Amino acid sequence: MPDVTVAIIGSGFGGIGMAASLIRAGLTDVVLLERAADLGGTWRDNSYPGAACDVPSHLYCFSFAPNPDWSRSFSPQPEIWRYLRRVAAEEGVTGKIRFGAEVTSARWDPAARLWRVETTRSTLTARFLISAAGPLSDPLIPELPGLGTFAGTVFHSAAWNHDHDLAGRNVAVIGTGASAIQFVPRIQPLAGRLTVFQRTPGWIMPRHDRQISRLERWLFRHLPVTQQIARAGIYCGREAYALGFVKDPAIMGAAQAMALRQLHRQVADADLRGRLTPSYRMGCKRVLLSNDYYPALTQPNVSLVTDGITEIREKSVLTSDGTAHQVDTLIFGTGFHVTDFPVARRIFGPDGVSLADRWSAHVTQPAQTAFRGTTTAGFPNLFVLTGPNTGLGHSSQVFMIEAQIRYVLGALVHAGRLAVDRIEVRPEAQAAYDRVVQRKMRRTVWVTGGCKSWYLDSDGRNVALWPDFTWVYARQTRRFDPSNYSLTADTGAAYPAASQPR
Ligand code: NAP
Repeated sequence: MPDVTVAIIGSGFGGIGMAASLIRAGLTDVVLLERAADLGGTWRDNSYPGAACDVPSHLYCFSFAPNPDWSRSFSPQPEIWRYLRRVAAEEGVTGKIRFGAEVTSARWDPAARLWRVETTRSTLTARFLISAAGPLSDPLIPELPGLGTFAGTVFHSAAWNHDHDLAGRNVAVIGTGASAIQFVPRIQPLAGRLTVFQRTPGWIMPRHDRQISRLERWLFRHLPVTQQIARAGIYCGREAYALGFVKDPAIMGAAQAMALRQLHRQVADADLRGRLTPSYRMGCKRVLLSNDYYPALTQPNVSLVTDGITEIREKSVLTSDGTAHQVDTLIFGTGFHVTDFPVARRIFGPDGVSLADRWSAHVTQPAQTAFRGTTTAGFPNLFVLTGPNTGLGHSSQVFMIEAQIRYVLGALVHAGRLAVDRIEVRPEAQAAYDRVVQRKMRRTVWVTGGCKSWYLDSDGRNVALWPDFTWVYARQTRRFDPSNYSLTADTGAAYPAASQPR
């Protein structure tokens, strides 16, 4: 018998939502393995100044745990983190988390039909393993030549050094993505000099953030249906964006015009404006929202450098034009290991092959695919939340996570009902699913938009995003579909899919 029925890696939105749903369904034999000392995942780690969500709050939360108290339409990070801690406590999840337990390896034992999981704290066996490690959990610091020789202070936006006072410092920010455009305006007034190193400009739209009024909050609390209506309205509005992202990228032209109007309004200098103007179709990279990033760049203590970084020296950053930019603090806003999925290097199937190696074995299958973004042939009883092609460019990731949770829950309930102890997706189902995803992908802005983004793997395949409306994914994952799986009952007899009771 395994030590536990379900082991979940991570306690961010995925881990907490999954555990809460299992507990609600009466499946309480669950353990969450969390490497940090607190829960919250990316919303615990990304505490940089100005960190906030760019998806409206009433959609960026669990449908089963609405929060009538969001203070703003786009919640700041401390509020989201607080929300996650509250939900975890109320749903009975917190007590099931083992903190400081980083999963170092998880190996499928084919004879015992269970996962043997090693953590930095202990080992345990589990019937089912669910990875909720998330795609934005391992910060990426590029291997810039000479970085090790830098004598000043270095940190990544996802591990902000709050003890390092930036007042009067010569600060370099490398990267101009979703994180950097939030913290640059906050640190600009503090820094003595701020040099922002941009490789590719992003499309930046106005951010329509506002305070949620006391009346709205009262209504949401006392008449919950009003919050459901607000959520549904936001959901529909966001789904409309999918038309431009995945159906007809030409539609993005109108939004581009709006972004350019903001750029013209906020940046008077034509040269600076030119360097901030993207040359690719909006949406190809994540669309950024900000009202104060451009104004921060126009301040006298700020320079935008667009020449490539060639080397880091003891006290400077050298660029391709030969300039040595003097700095004493280096802040990386360079994103995360997404397409290389770090946790996949620690999960091993029955033949000892890691999920990462399986996903890069181009000979047997295209790289990084998972049936419904969740299950992979060769890895029984493993479910990956926010797996391949489940990310979004236009709406709330929490919506996708909940759809996946429903699917996984369906699988586990099915397994429990039929005393099944081994569930493995059929390779042909996985391959067919991937063909459909990649066919849809062909016309999306991520493929046709003319940019290079972290959505693409080293072969240029978009392995990160879902190429359709989110309700299409929710419909596909609403029920577990045993006919796409090979199931083995604990009698040891595998039974054909056709005989599966429904
Ligand atoms: P990111 O969007 O991946 O941006 C990384 C930035 O670093 C890009 O500007 C990239 O330039 C640059 N970069 C990477 N390597 C570089 C190098 N070697 N030299 C120079 N520049 C380099 O990372 P992020 O801003 O941390 O955001 C990551 C994701 O987190 C977002 O896409 C989003 O999904 C999420 N996020 C969400 C929110 C939210 O509000 N919900 C807020 C922050 C982040 P290139 O563009 O040229 O590659």
